[in-house]
Amino acid sequence: MKIDIVTIFPDFFRGPLEHGIIRRAREAGLATIEVHDLRAFAHDRHKTVDDRPFGGGEGMVLKPEPIFECIEAMGVASREGRSEARQSVILLSAQGKRFDQSVANELAAMERIVLICGRYEGVDERVGQYLADRELSIGDYVLSGGELGAAVIVDCITRLIPGAVGNQASTQQESFTTFSQGQAGDGPSSTCTSGGLLDYPHYTRPADFRGMGVPEVLASGNHEEIRRWRRRTALEKTLRNRPDLLESVVLSEEDKKLLGNSD
Ligand code: SAM
Repeated sequence: MKIDIVTIFPDFFRGPLEHGIIRRAREAGLATIEVHDLRAFAHDRHKTVDDRPFGGGEGMVLKPEPIFECIEAMGVASREGRSEARQSVILLSAQGKRFDQSVANELAAMERIVLICGRYEGVDERVGQYLADRELSIGDYVLSGGELGAAVIVDCITRLIPGAVGNQASTQQESFTTFSQGQAGDGPSSTCTSGGLLDYPHYTRPADFRGMGVPEVLASGNHEEIRRWRRRTALEKTLRNRPDLLESVVLSEEDKKLLGNSD
């Protein structure tokens, strides 16, 4: 996968791209990530990329010319040909559609994505209308720039690239993941695939930490009991923290019983 990031702060990405799974995926050649300095496409000696808004009002707006020219120089497919070429040019925007795990799965299947980071009051609307093929928001709040959003998207999709995470099955058992139960593999850990719920609680050694214990069932060696415990606690946590998720999850008869017996 090729990922291009367009920003006025290229150094911002030094941290996010140089650690953990992203660094390893880059080193293994699974992901090629290039950061483009928007100012290199400015037309004046001051490297101006912003201007005052038409109609008046607060702040500055990122100009369209440097952004169009930067994307054109990358040689991405035309807007019409992008989905067939498995490419997407994405504008980060608080006004965009919400980025979530299902959008992440869709993007992880692309060959190339381009992330345009806005700043100031935002980006000239023609970038979203005629250049980008989608606008994405990482949540209902306003950031001062698109860089954090781009870093979130890169992190989230890189770990979905086959081979990026040591144990690929683990990415199918996490919160929000909609694979059906048991699809991810064998054994007690994999039979509790979230199915769109939040993940179940995890514990590791020591079994007794300052008097705080670990649920006995997890040390029982009884795979079926562990599977049921994990499913029940995932259901309980979802009900407690994100009841909205339960609206789109088809609960099995066993799930309903587990939830009913959860107190
Ligand atoms: N005036 C804009 C509005 O009210 O929607 C906010 C502009 S914001 C200060 C500057 C840039 O930060 C945006 O162009 C966008 O690229 C980025 N940004 C802000 N919030 C974001 C969010 N929730 N998701 C993704 N990008 C965001």
